[in-house]
Amino acid sequence: MSAVTGLPPYDESNIFARILRGEIPSRRVHEDEFAVAFHDINPQAPVHVLVIPRGAYVSLADFAASASDAEIAGFWRAVGRVAKELGLEAHGYRALTNMGQEGGQEVPHFHVHLFGGRMLGRMVP
Ligand code: IMP
Repeated sequence: MSAVTGLPPYDESNIFARILRGEIPSRRVHEDEFAVAFHDINPQAPVHVLVIPRGAYVSLADFAASASDAEIAGFWRAVGRVAKELGLEAHGYRALTNMGQEGGQEVPHFHVHLFGGRMLGRMVP
């Protein structure tokens, strides 16, 4: 556990860290100083893209506690920009993040899912 956040330490071998380092291929749709976006390997909607910060943050809790204001602003601006660039704004889309074990998070590098391209089902836990 991190003494600062009480969260597990960041694992440099997680799959998104490897994608950021270019060790694993990804279908990138956007990259800038703060964020990288790429298609999910197992899409749950016609458009399913993941947006991740370049910084090493385990989850939303870690990102919110530890990232700088510039990183937080840059990241969320990138999320909005990616949705717009993918043409999702006209009909709407969903942005979602899973946090921790009970939140269903599988990859321990903070990421936001963008889903769109069809009428999405109601959110049911
Ligand atoms: P989580 O459950 O919120 O952590 O979501 C992890 C997501 O990463 C899932 O939707 C996976 O399909 C996706 N994923 C896992 N490995 C890869 C990969 O190598 N490339 C792109 N997406 C991946």
